[in-house]
Amino acid sequence: MSSHRHRHRHLHVVVVVVLLLSLFVSSSHTFSPYEESQIRTFQSYLQLPTPHPNPNYTPSVSFLTSVAQSLNLTIQTLEFVPNKPLLLLTWPGLSPHLPSLLLNSHLDSVPAEPRLWSHPPFSAHRDPSTGRIFARGAQDDKSISIQYLESIRNLKLSNFRPLRSVHLSFVPDEEIGAADGMARFVPSEHFKNLNVGFVLDEGQASEGEDFRVFYADRSPWSLIVKATGQPGHGSRMFDGSAGENLMECVEAVARFREAQFDLVKAGIKEASEVVSVNLVYLKAGTPSPTGFVMNMQPSEAEAGFDVRFTPTEDPDLLRKRIEEEWAPISKNLTYQLIQKGPIRDKAGRPLVTATNDSNPWWSVFKQAIIASGGKLAKPEILRSTTDARFIRQMGIPTLGFSPMANTPILLHEHNEFLRDSVFLNGIKVYEHIISSLSSFSATAEQ
Ligand SMILES: [Zn+2]
Repeated sequence: MSSHRHRHRHLHVVVVVVLLLSLFVSSSHTFSPYEESQIRTFQSYLQLPTPHPNPNYTPSVSFLTSVAQSLNLTIQTLEFVPNKPLLLLTWPGLSPHLPSLLLNSHLDSVPAEPRLWSHPPFSAHRDPSTGRIFARGAQDDKSISIQYLESIRNLKLSNFRPLRSVHLSFVPDEEIGAADGMARFVPSEHFKNLNVGFVLDEGQASEGEDFRVFYADRSPWSLIVKATGQPGHGSRMFDGSAGENLMECVEAVARFREAQFDLVKAGIKEASEVVSVNLVYLKAGTPSPTGFVMNMQPSEAEAGFDVRFTPTEDPDLLRKRIEEEWAPISKNLTYQLIQKGPIRDKAGRPLVTATNDSNPWWSVFKQAIIASGGKLAKPEILRSTTDARFIRQMGIPTLGFSPMANTPILLHEHNEFLRDSVFLNGIKVYEHIISSLSSFSATAEQ
């Protein structure tokens, strides 16, 4: 009898487990018609291709404009460069003199190679069993573009009115350095008139439960070192050949690289918190019909390095290191350092947004994430760069944030996708963020 009851209980457990499992599996089918329409808006936007090298921005801007019209937002289309429109939307605040909130995303995407994709990259195919929506731009960063808008729709439906004005910018050319995009917008009168106090820009997916947040970008530099020296027969040993001089440089760089990399390997620093330097090309030698002349030492040699600089380092120290250790003139080495984008703000401070209580926007942002039921991971420096660096240059606090938890990091990869449930949850997260950040009244003196 007791064994029978035991089996019975066992059966109960099995039934409960099966029920729970079926809940998880079918979770992508349990959305309301309203939520389904928000997912369709996302899919429709993803179906408008904007990959480089020839993004056609017009259909995307038209689409976003029609969404903005349905939300009764103020609409401006700026064009700093022909065929590179920038869409600027505004939800006016009740106290429009207060510093405003700007939500930024970019219109363009990197290219996609269809042969590598399981579904065409601009089909926005939604897998019925997993809820995965496949498209170039699904994570980077068309998700946040639509989440910003749809969270405003939800807030408007709940009769929320912001105290501060909320602006949304949709900018071109982020993926190719933003020379005709954010780099033109930020110094313009249009931007100045927005009186921006705080900005949210794109972040990255998180494989764990926590949302990732980025308070700085690494800055890309290109370093080219040229060596000259006495040419000579390949058989002769002498001091000061171009090849020998360049090797001095490569060895010095390698020592620095190893020391930085060791910090990462030892778990003392994150990969994004050290200065990375990688050899990207070597150029030397005297060409011959079969390759290179092998018995001649050339009079010139050259090496190129990709340097990624963290904003917490002193750029003058690195320049000094290059001049004294990597490319000393005493070794007949000269160098060219091409700095891409700013590394200091207009007041000379590092391009870093404070993630502590000295930044009132941070505190409100953090509270909003908690209120939405989410968790924030330790703030990070982004390994690469985004448009955020141009805004931080103006001294405006800017965080990189895309609410994509439990999601593989697929930006710029094939089969980029975002799950429908993750997309919808992001709308809820932005509801909390936008309502808190637009309604706290303490003036943030930055
Ligand atoms: Zn992006």
